[in-house]
Amino acid sequence: ATPTALMVGTGRGAQLGILIKGPEVLESTRRVDTVVLDKTGTVTTGRMELRDVFTAPGTDEALLLRLAGALEHASEHPVARAVASGAADRTGPLPEVEKFENVAGLGVRGLVDGHEVLVGREALLAGAGVELGPELAGAKAAAEAEGRTAVAVAWGGSARGVLTVADAVKETSAEAVARLRELGLTPVLLTGDNRAVAESVARAVGIGPEDVYAEVLPQDKVDVVKRLQAGGRSVAMVGDGVNDAAALATADLGLAMGTGTDAAIEAGDLTLVRGDLRVAADAILLSRRTLGTIK
Ligand code: ADP
Ligand code: MG
Repeated sequence: ATPTALMVGTGRGAQLGILIKGPEVLESTRRVDTVVLDKTGTVTTGRMELRDVFTAPGTDEALLLRLAGALEHASEHPVARAVASGAADRTGPLPEVEKFENVAGLGVRGLVDGHEVLVGREALLAGAGVELGPELAGAKAAAEAEGRTAVAVAWGGSARGVLTVADAVKETSAEAVARLRELGLTPVLLTGDNRAVAESVARAVGIGPEDVYAEVLPQDKVDVVKRLQAGGRSVAMVGDGVNDAAALATADLGLAMGTGTDAAIEAGDLTLVRGDLRVAADAILLSRRTLGTIK
């Protein structure tokens, strides 16, 4: 396409709510055949809420909420914000945290009220030699089958409870997936979350389990993109989080949600200003038209 055509395409993009880094970006959409969608904050609203609280025998529910809430208050993860605000709503002001460490893609650990507390995925507890036990494992499995994210809580070397959080699939996501398919693209879902949760969200938007990449650690998301590329696919990635930045930069086309983090926006080739996934389809259509009009 001529520079003029690309400039016109860029201007038209701005009208649609698509900010394009540079005119050359449009060229990279030409061969895209696969669209990798991050789950949390991209396909779902990312506004999670605390739902169920399961305690291990002998554990006080209010104490569980206060310790877990206090620790999560120090994290910016959407799951953490849901736990912290839900715990504060249910139990009142949260205690101070004496030590805090974020473990990317797994959870948080730290010192609260003299207790060494772990909050996050079962794998975080397993890494510290803590087992969930049959009751909590059962509660976790049941919650995940319903599409909720289970958050395990441990202190003093024992699992003390499981909290569940859930967010909503965006109203526009199913239509967006359908429009991507109409353009001949294959949408796939990529997430660090549990497989049962991921498949339940995928089902809600029309993506089959074979196109779900779940339980992928933040640093491994980029490898999923590379593997698809190595298999001959030309990949667009849509994401919003710090943990999507490397994958956005590696994809043939990186689309950042304008509602997401600065890291994602900087790594992307273009930004969907309103965070509406349907505009991802508009962006690809616009590029095809721009490139198609002038040879
Ligand atoms: P996604 O890929 O869906 O954007 P992440 O990679 O950020 O999600 O996180 C993957 C999973 O790790 C989350 O679904 C959650 O189960 C767990 N997790 C990460 N951080 C925390 C935290 N601070 N508290 C509890 N769980 C967490
Ligand atoms: Mg995300």
